[in-house]
Amino acid sequence: MRQLSLTAALLAVALVLRVEPARADLDWHALGEEAATLLSDLIRVDTTNPPGGETAAANLLARKFRAEGIETEVMESAPGRGNLYARLPGQGGARPLILLSHLDVVPADPRDWRIAPFGGIRERGHIYGRGALDAKGLSVIQAMAVIALKRSHRPPGRDVIVLATADEETGGAAGAGWLVHHRRELLGNAEYLLTEGDHIHLRGGRKIVQVSVAEKTPCWVKLVAHGESGHGSTPPRFTAVTRLIRALNKIRRYRTPISLVPAVESYFAAFAPLEKEPLRGALTHLHDALEEPQFLADFTRNPRQNALIRDTITPTVLQGSSKTNVIPAEASAQLDCRLLPGEDPAAFIAQLRSVIGDDAVAVETLLSFPASSSDPSSPLITAVRQLAAADLGGAPVVPSVIPGFTDSHYFREQGVASYGFIPFVLTEEEEKTVHGSNERVSIQNLENGVRRLVMLLHTLPSAAPR
Ligand SMILES: [Zn+2]
Repeated sequence: MRQLSLTAALLAVALVLRVEPARADLDWHALGEEAATLLSDLIRVDTTNPPGGETAAANLLARKFRAEGIETEVMESAPGRGNLYARLPGQGGARPLILLSHLDVVPADPRDWRIAPFGGIRERGHIYGRGALDAKGLSVIQAMAVIALKRSHRPPGRDVIVLATADEETGGAAGAGWLVHHRRELLGNAEYLLTEGDHIHLRGGRKIVQVSVAEKTPCWVKLVAHGESGHGSTPPRFTAVTRLIRALNKIRRYRTPISLVPAVESYFAAFAPLEKEPLRGALTHLHDALEEPQFLADFTRNPRQNALIRDTITPTVLQGSSKTNVIPAEASAQLDCRLLPGEDPAAFIAQLRSVIGDDAVAVETLLSFPASSSDPSSPLITAVRQLAAADLGGAPVVPSVIPGFTDSHYFREQGVASYGFIPFVLTEEEEKTVHGSNERVSIQNLENGVRRLVMLLHTLPSAAPR
């Protein structure tokens, strides 16, 4: 180093400057405060779905982007059903990344809440309100991360597309589904997508970074039993209602087979090092362990674990006569069935028909699409691992499978590798407020969430390795 010439020294400085362009230093605390204010404003726009009314929320975000000089557009799939699009140009080295969230929320009954659910109220370091976590809090940190990147004059390696859509909570037909079918060009040749689905779990003082790479898929069906209508005082041997009950009883007794798909196997295996023996060994070799009847019984007692190793069938809606003394010609039940990734919906329905074994009971499909998953060892997952090392004390990163579903499937079907990751650290108690009462997010999480997203977007390689 002593022999380094002045020219070489200048060259070294120039190189450093090229790799690390001058940037306005970002004040993360101020960005967290700005995110908190934006979230309060967004919660005050009641977007309970149905009916949704997301346009006002989309316009609020659009104004924020426009004030920063970021290209944005609000598109309605139907009157009041607004979807927001914004795009921050990157250095153009790689295909774009999409940050996806949804603007609609599930209903909130103020009687169950300690704090008004649509007040956007700040109390003891938290913002309270329906959507604080699911998913307006995500909309806000994604928007603020893009705004922070723009202000820093240090563009990410690739274009970042922001989508905040309508209608996720009832299936997304007026939101993400509408967008991919009517405005496909906005996605360009996007490579990755980040959305809700999983987060950083805080368990017994330990952080576990979970990124969902696969989801179970809904196969919602309606059983319709037929029979002769008549007077309740003179019942025939079989009626639509008794046929339906018999069918439901057969389904209740039916046990779907245990099936350990590779994504689920590696998900549980990732927890093995965190456990003591004998559970550690069982999670490492789950396939073998599940053949032990006692282990299987214990394992499936946990509803979430059970849901990850088999298809599930849950009767929910029941309809028959509306009058005690009238035998209806038709009785129906809706089943919320969820299939493992890779399962064939047609084969599942054929199996359901054979379990019922009654031609007078029709099986109609209400909602079904093929399950899809994304690569659990892609450069995006590597970038999350680097983030965990740099910002989360080296917390383990676990690609997960979730029993529910998000709008991800619309994008996976378009060839976009989609991941469920909200960079919030949440306790079990906080998780329970999602779709529950007193939903809230800490301002610390908002601040950290913005910072982690910015770090992630800078970490993700800007060009595919050759
Ligand atoms: Zn959601």
